[in-house]
Amino acid sequence: AKPSGNKSVLVIGLGRFGGSVAATLDQMGQDVLAVDKNPELVARWSAHLPTIQADMTDVLAIEQIDASQFDTAVVAIGDSIEASVIITGNLLDAGVSDLWAKSVSQEHARILQRIGARHIINAETDAGKRVGHLVAGNYLDYIEIDGPYTVVKVHTPLYAVGRSIEDVQVHDKYGVTVVGLKAPGKEFQYGSKELVMHRNDELILMGKQDQIDHFIQG
Ligand code: ADP
Repeated sequence: AKPSGNKSVLVIGLGRFGGSVAATLDQMGQDVLAVDKNPELVARWSAHLPTIQADMTDVLAIEQIDASQFDTAVVAIGDSIEASVIITGNLLDAGVSDLWAKSVSQEHARILQRIGARHIINAETDAGKRVGHLVAGNYLDYIEIDGPYTVVKVHTPLYAVGRSIEDVQVHDKYGVTVVGLKAPGKEFQYGSKELVMHRNDELILMGKQDQIDHFIQG
């Protein structure tokens, strides 16, 4: 019996990661209930969010909170892989199907996946990859999508300056889609074949990593 309208989300673990997830959901008007076993954290967060103190490895706690009534649960525990795995398993047993779990290693991710967590968040590796790309300076921004696809923001490659998307054959030659283009001080424009790329324009590209790199190099 889930409430109609908003999504109800159970967030377990109010560390830096879980706290940030819970606060974001709350700001977006979702029904959040946050749980942590640490009373100090619970006291600190309870001014901002509905918060409960409980050790969620305990099946009784899962029952008391009535976890099965939530549409979604986020297991944000990295300090104990054991607790993360037990809680994920208990929530799945309770019938929470839309489950997001934070993993701290590949092994952890594999176990979470095997027990049936639908979404695994590799927060540190994802952030590390992203920062690597940004530090290397190839991209102004970078988002990895499931599978091999990425969305990146780059400046117009030198060889493409003054040429249109059609002329450079961005899609046919490189397999890359220009989602849009932002010239300094101007409105964002959606990608279309007539669009001319100028120096210092920011291009939003989508494609596979190697294709995007190929396009950037010309
Ligand atoms: P971060 O790296 O994002 O700061 P941590 O892994 O350090 O996250 O934080 C995990 C949080 O989960 C801690 O606040 C901890 O008290 C909480 N936690 C750990 N085990 C349990 C449990 N069994 N039940 C409820 N909360 C737990």
